[in-house]
This record gives sequence, C-alpha cells and structure tokens, in this order.
Amino acid sequence: MNSTYSPSISEERVKNRRSDAFLCPICHNILWKPQQCSKCQQPICENCIATCLRHNPGVCPMCRLPYQEQRCMPQFYNFLCELQIECCNRSSGCNQILFYEQLEQHETQECGYEIKECRGCKEKVIKQELIKHEKGCEFIKKTCRNCRMIYGQKQKHELLDCLTYKQEVLEKLINPPPE
Ligand SMILES: [Zn+2]
Ligand SMILES: [Zn+2]
Ligand SMILES: [Zn+2]
Ligand SMILES: [Zn+2]
Ligand SMILES: [Zn+2]
Repeated sequence: MNSTYSPSISEERVKNRRSDAFLCPICHNILWKPQQCSKCQQPICENCIATCLRHNPGVCPMCRLPYQEQRCMPQFYNFLCELQIECCNRSSGCNQILFYEQLEQHETQECGYEIKECRGCKEKVIKQELIKHEKGCEFIKKTCRNCRMIYGQKQKHELLDCLTYKQEVLEKLINPPPE
C-alpha cells in the first residue's frame, strides 16, 4: 500500500550521517520506504517508483530492464533507521530531531507547529494555537439553528435578532389567533 505521506526529506535535514547512498535517484531526497529493482538493486522511494511505473509500466527507471520489486537489504534499512532528521516544521518553531521511523507519526500527528489556516480569517496559525485562535476569531461564522442566518461568532444573535422569531411575531400580527 502506498501511504499518502511522502515527506521529501532534503539531505540538509539529516543531522548525523550524510551519504549519497541514502538519496533517491528520482526525487533526490532521503529515500522514503524504499524498494529496489531485483536487477540493478538501486533503492527508490515507494512513491517515486510507483510514479515511474505508472508512466512506464514494468520498466526499471534506472537500468531499463523489466522491473521486479525486491525488498531492500535489511542492513541498508537499518542504516536509514539511524538517521536523525529535523522536523519539517522547523521554520515555524519545532526543534525536534526525529529518528527515521518516528518522523511520520511526529509530522502527521504530534507536531504542534504545523501551519494551519484559520477557517475564518484565513490567517496562518501553528496547529497548537489554532483552537484558541479560532475561538477568539471574529471571522468564524455561526449559523442560527432556527433562522439559518449566518453571523460572526462575536456578534450577538439573540431572540430579537432571529428571523424566525420576527416572522412568528409578524404572522401573529397579520393572522391573530382566533379569540
Ligand atoms: Zn524518491
Ligand atoms: Zn533496475
Ligand atoms: Zn515538529
Ligand atoms: Zn482567524
Ligand atoms: Zn436566528
């Protein structure tokens, strides 16, 4: 199964050990969940090889021989697992360094520094401040359950503002209930 997470780790984000051997020949980033061709044994990211094979079915993009997938050598995978990698949200304040196998969980679930967009004002906010921001953001809209009117969450929508209530009052004025 191809995961949708495809982190594109540039070599600069690796803190301990840099080597060309860890780079994918297709995307030139650190190999992510690599597979290899049984003929040339060149490791390629799971997503990169899938893209190549979609364009050129059955052909290895490196040696051009019929592609037969093979698992990478366990030793090679162990080297990858030793890599210590900066979180992709470093520029917004995350200082975490993760081992290769921790990266996906950190970046997709745990990191509070992922940049998110406020649903109201569209301002960019880091994930750990988003809930607080949206609670106070005047551009977040609410919808009245009765009259369906949309109003800013900081605006009032009390009984006298509610169109359903106004309509009921009007109807009573036009058609007074029988005495
Ligand atoms: Zn790649
Ligand atoms: Zn090959
Ligand atoms: Zn992080
Ligand atoms: Zn906002
Ligand atoms: Zn209303």
